Amino acid sequence: MEKFQKNNLKKIIELLNSSDNNIIVLGAGMSAESGIPTFRGENGLWNKYGVPKMDSYNKFLNNPEEWWNNEINMKMDKYIYELRHKINVAKPHNGHFIISKLEKLGIIKGVITQNIDNLDHRAGIKNLIEIHGNRTKFRCIECEKTFDRNEIIIKKPPKNCPKCNGIVKFDTVMFGEPISKTKLDKAKQLFNQSKVILAIGTSATVRPISGLFWIAEKEGKKIIDINPNETNLKEISTLNLKINAKRFLEILEKGITK
Ligand code: NAD
Ligand code: ZN
Repeated sequence: MEKFQKNNLKKIIELLNSSDNNIIVLGAGMSAESGIPTFRGENGLWNKYGVPKMDSYNKFLNNPEEWWNNEINMKMDKYIYELRHKINVAKPHNGHFIISKLEKLGIIKGVITQNIDNLDHRAGIKNLIEIHGNRTKFRCIECEKTFDRNEIIIKKPPKNCPKCNGIVKFDTVMFGEPISKTKLDKAKQLFNQSKVILAIGTSATVRPISGLFWIAEKEGKKIIDINPNETNLKEISTLNLKINAKRFLEILEKGITK
């Protein structure tokens, strides 16, 4: 690691040790070292398969029955097929467990994840907002009730919601689908109460979470950007480090003094 980066690392650890309200925002890069590809970035799925049409929620709403039949017959975009397969076989890496440990120590007050892969939950993170949903669940589009999805391969469409008879989809947020207001409010609350925001493995381009960073910066909060590549946070981050998520968290674990 070059001198400038080493110096930044030292400052980041000092900042996290001295602040009493740190939160983490995770992006797809956090799970890259669990073998799950990102969308954006050099090794991302969009570089491999091209950028998809971002209209999946409209397609679902136009004809949910047809959508579920396509799903059952495995008629889906190649990038989705690959992402799902990689998620199905992935396990949390050491970095996920370190975040859970930092939460138990009180160093981290909460985690907003943009990931859908359930790895943060599996690692034991408790105060977790899965802003883009969770791949292991179904959700009613009317009342937002979620249900566990018991099988990996879906053989028949889920029944309508037992609570309100609404249409049921995967909990995972589709392109064009509005984010649950309840979840977004919780995420805003976590941002509001924080003093330091640690962004790990996110390009900070996907709304609505990306927007919260800019509001936070205006409010004088400190933003730390952990990513091997340059991100949108470049303009507003107090400190940044070009490093992989897992390595960073392993170094951080050693530097925490609590
Ligand atoms: P993103 O915008 O957060 O970009 C991914 C970022 O990860 C890039 O900035 C890249 O430089 C960085 N990265 C790559 N390897 C890394 C590593 N080892 N350590 C740290 N950072 C690394 O996310 P996206 O890929 O554009 O996906 C957008 C949305 O799609 C996500 O928010 C999520 O909802 C969904 N998605 C989820 C998963 C998952 O659940 N694992 C994977 C892909 C996409
Ligand atoms: Zn319902």
